[in-house]
Amino acid sequence: AKDQGRNTYHYFKPEMDVHALERLMLENALRRAIERNELVLHYQPQVAADDARVLGCEALVRWQHPELGMLQPVQFIGVAEESGLIVALGEWVLETACRQLAAWQAAGRELVVAVNISALQFRHGGFFDSVRRILRDTGVDPRHLELELTESALMQPTPEVLARMQQLRDLGIMLALDDFGTGYSSLSYLKRLPIRRLKLDRSFVKDLPDDAEDVAIAMATLSLARDLGMDVVAEGVENEVQWRFLAQHGCQVMQGYLFSRPLPADAWERWLAERQG
Ligand code: C2E
Ligand code: CA
Ligand code: CA
Ligand code: CA
Repeated sequence: AKDQGRNTYHYFKPEMDVHALERLMLENALRRAIERNELVLHYQPQVAADDARVLGCEALVRWQHPELGMLQPVQFIGVAEESGLIVALGEWVLETACRQLAAWQAAGRELVVAVNISALQFRHGGFFDSVRRILRDTGVDPRHLELELTESALMQPTPEVLARMQQLRDLGIMLALDDFGTGYSSLSYLKRLPIRRLKLDRSFVKDLPDDAEDVAIAMATLSLARDLGMDVVAEGVENEVQWRFLAQHGCQVMQGYLFSRPLPADAWERWLAERQG
């Protein structure tokens, strides 16, 4: 609470120290969590807009904390990014998702698995080599792997950034632009990027089709994507009205609670088996 006058520097300082200490403890706990395998991936289906057939899923990380229970990314991704732990965490996520994908490929499942890559991780010098190592170690078919990059990773598409994206494409990996519409991207750079799809952020899907601004943003995104030869995944689809509206306006892929929440691997396999028989 910002109550003018009372919040002097001295009043605030002890509290700031507590926060700093808490962050340090969280950081150390997270470092141990990665080593002790306390992280888990949940998988959320992505389905075709026209007939809801399952195309693949997005891997989303959780932290199964021994005392605090299941922690959500909002509770630890920030600390992971500030401390640099996101590089190790991101590598664990990519490797785990690829192992899972390889197992599904071996079982004859035709799925694309999408993995979130933080901007820091993408820009890290060892990123490309770690992707290559993981592909080699897991034996996964890279054409069924999609990396979700955020606008901040690509904000300045320097030659290095473009070259790195092209290297990933050359391996067969697909690239998606996550949280589209929330960043500062100038639209003109989009056409230079080797990405196949945009993910329309949940914040623009939530109030469709009642909110006029959200309608405008969704339609503009869909028309831009069409012109650039990309497709669009809508995030956070929770009801049939949103689904119908988005499908009618050319959105190809749906993701959201309407279809399923993110599920642990075994529950996701059961969900899939029930749908596909
Ligand atoms: P995101 O990449 O935009 O992921 C979509 C988020 O929306 C997920 O939250 C998902 O559970 C949630 N969601 C999906 N459908 C619905 C819906 O219909 N309604 C509502 N209200 N929410 C829905 P989650 O799993 O809590 O992840 C939050 C964010 O944390 C992700 O946003 C992503 O930015 C980050 N994150 C998650 N896993 C990873 C990871 O492995 N690596 C990195 N770098 N970031 C991750
Ligand atoms: Ca994502
Ligand atoms: Ca989002
Ligand atoms: Ca609005």
